[in-house]
Amino acid sequence: MNNKIEGIEEILRKEILCHGAISLADYMKICLTHHKHGYYIRNNPIGVTGDFTTSPEISQMFGELIGLWIGQTWIDHGKPRKFSLVELGPGNGTLMADILRVTKRVEGLHSALDITLIEISPSLQEVQKEILKDFPVKWKAKIENLPKQTTIVIANEFFDALPIKQYRRKSGQWMEVMVTLKDLKNLTPKEFCFQLMKTDERILADLNIQEGCTVEISTVMRDIIYYLSNHIQENSGAALIIDYGKEGNVGNTLQAVSQHMYSNPLTSPGQKDLTSFVDFKAIKTFAEETGAVVPNLTNQGDFLRSLGIEQRAEKLSQGLTSSALKLHKSGLARLINKDAMGNLFKVLGIRNENSPPLIGLEI
Ligand code: SAH
Repeated sequence: MNNKIEGIEEILRKEILCHGAISLADYMKICLTHHKHGYYIRNNPIGVTGDFTTSPEISQMFGELIGLWIGQTWIDHGKPRKFSLVELGPGNGTLMADILRVTKRVEGLHSALDITLIEISPSLQEVQKEILKDFPVKWKAKIENLPKQTTIVIANEFFDALPIKQYRRKSGQWMEVMVTLKDLKNLTPKEFCFQLMKTDERILADLNIQEGCTVEISTVMRDIIYYLSNHIQENSGAALIIDYGKEGNVGNTLQAVSQHMYSNPLTSPGQKDLTSFVDFKAIKTFAEETGAVVPNLTNQGDFLRSLGIEQRAEKLSQGLTSSALKLHKSGLARLINKDAMGNLFKVLGIRNENSPPLIGLEI
C-alpha cells in the first residue's frame, strides 16, 4: 500500500523538480487517472464504503427514471432500428443496470440497443462487466469513433471529475494557479503548495473579472462536448448531463473528498477524489457552436419530479415496511429535496436541432 502512495507523490515531485510547477489540470490528471497509481485506476471510490455516494447508488428510482427518459427519447426519434446508448463514467454500472431493467419493457428498444461505456479505469470496467454481464456492452477509455447512428448519451457525475485550469486576477494581471513544492531549496521538499504564475494576458482578455477572483476552464470538457454535440448533429440523438455545477466559471470550486468528508486537495495526492463545479454555461456555448439545441438548465429535483419520481416512490413504498420504507423515503428526499441534491445537481440536455423536444426538459 505504502509503495503505491509513494508512487504518485514521487511522480509529481520528479515532474516539478525537473520541469517546474505544473498546472492544476496536470496535477488533477495525474492524481485521478495516472495509468498505474491514479485515484480512479486504483480504487473503487463509489458507495458507502468508498469516498462518495452518487444518485444511482442512493435509489434505484434514479436509474429507472433516466431509463424512462431514454425510452421516450428513443420513441420520439422514431424508434430507430439501431441506436447507440453511451454512458460517460459509469462507476459501478448501477445506473446502466437500472436503465436496462426498465427499458426491457419498451417494445423493440433492447433489440435496437448498441451500448458503449466510456470508462478510463480498468478496475471499474471489471465491476461494470460483472453487473452488466447479461448485456452486449462495449468499452472505450475515451469518447471517439462512435458508430454513425442515432446516439443517446448520459453522464452522471462525470464532468465534475475532469481536470480544470484555474486563473486568478491579481494586481490587474492574470495569473495561473500552479502546483509546486514548498521549500524548493531544501534537498527533499515534500509538501505541495499552490503558486501563482504570470500567464498570457490574451487568454482571458474577454473576461471582465474583478481583482482576486478565480476563473476555471476545462479544455478536456470542451473537447468532449464538441465531439458529442457534433456527433449528435451528424447522426441525430440527444445527451443528458447531470452534475453539480453552475452557469459560469467564476469562483474557486476545486474540492477534495475522502471518506465522505472534505479534505485538502494537495495532501495525499491520488488518494482522494478531486472535483470542481461543472460550468453548464460553457457546455451550452460549446454545444450550441455545433448547431445543437440546448434547452434551459433544470435542477435535478424538478427534472425527476416532472418524470414522475413521486408517483414511482409511492408505488414502491407499498411493498415496504419499517427500516426499508424509511430508507426508501430518505432516498427520495436526498434525490429531490432542495437542501439535498435537488437543487445543487443540475440537468442539461443537448439535442440534434431537428430532434423533437426533450421530456423533462422542454416538455
Ligand atoms: N456515473 C457514476 C460514477 C461517477 S464517478 C455514478 O453516477 O455512480 C466518475 C466516473 O468517471 C468513474 O467511473 C471514473 O472512473 C470515470 N472517469 C473519470 N475520469 C474519466 C476520464 N477522463 N475518462 C473516462 N472516464 C473517467
